[in-house]
Amino acid sequence: MSSEDEPVAAGATTTTCENCDDLGWVCENHLDRPWDGPRACTCGGAGAPCPVCNVTGEGDVPRMPEGFQAEVDKDGWRH
Ligand SMILES: [Zn+2]
Ligand SMILES: [Zn+2]
Repeated sequence: MSSEDEPVAAGATTTTCENCDDLGWVCENHLDRPWDGPRACTCGGAGAPCPVCNVTGEGDVPRMPEGFQAEVDKDGWRH
């Protein structure tokens, strides 16, 4: 716990999506608002993959936000 103590913001390229706050998901109704986090959209809309950083091709599964409870994994959303 002592040797891997390197600073994070020391020139390292941090990819931060300003569209979704790097969450990867935005509000379905407002595609420029994060779906979760401090700036989360409060309209109550469903989540949608961020069109900026979480674009997926057909058949691909968009990455889920951390801690996301995948309710889509139960019945729907399967091919
Ligand atoms: Zn919204
Ligand atoms: Zn994004």
